[in-house]
Amino acid sequence: MRIDIISVLPELLVSPLDHSIVKRARDKGLLEIHLHDLKDYGKGKHRQVDDYSYGGGAGMVLMVEPIFNCIEKLKMEREYDEVIFTAPDGHVFSQGMANRLSLCKNLIILCGHYKGVDERVREHLITMEISIGDYVLSGGELAAAVITDAVGRLIPGVLNDESSALTDSFQDNLVAPPVFTRPSEFNGWEVPPVLMSGHEKRIEDWRFEKSLERTRIRRPDLME
Ligand code: SAH
Repeated sequence: MRIDIISVLPELLVSPLDHSIVKRARDKGLLEIHLHDLKDYGKGKHRQVDDYSYGGGAGMVLMVEPIFNCIEKLKMEREYDEVIFTAPDGHVFSQGMANRLSLCKNLIILCGHYKGVDERVREHLITMEISIGDYVLSGGELAAAVITDAVGRLIPGVLNDESSALTDSFQDNLVAPPVFTRPSEFNGWEVPPVLMSGHEKRIEDWRFEKSLERTRIRRPDLME
């Protein structure tokens, strides 16, 4: 899979996408990430990419032309499954969306900044809009990093233990059960004995029971 991320601040994305499982995916050749500095497509010697908002009001707006030029250049080189825009009023990101996106071949993610992007970008160039939650970030870069991380770890072959993604929260509308590691007792706090019993079936049942219980208490909305 290939993800092209377009941003006015690509430096913000370097470190989050260069560690842990995303790095492993890249090292294994299963995920290619290309960062594009929108300023390279900016106008004039100042590489201008933003301008005042028509109608007035605070905050700069990313201009349509540099974004158009960058996206068009990429589209000439290959076909993209989706051209995603990070937007607080987009579809709220979910595990289901991550699952679907992990099956794509090529994705573009455009990060907004300042007041946002010229609406004509959204009308004509974007195929999908994703919000990572009901709060406002300074820019789409952290959202793009969140999306890339959640999607990247689901690409077949990325996780060593293939079943590991399947036992994570949200995969069957349930949150994950609690986990423990050594020591079996610390400060008088004990690990549930069933986990040390060696009975696979009983452990599996216990985990399922805990998943149900936690979902009922913490996220009853998932069970509806
Ligand atoms: N004026 C806009 C917010 C602009 S924030 C509004 O009120 O809707 C600047 C940029 O950060 C946005 O264009 C978007 O790309 C990104 N962003 C902010 N919050 C986000 C969120 N919750 N999810 C995804 N992207 C977000």
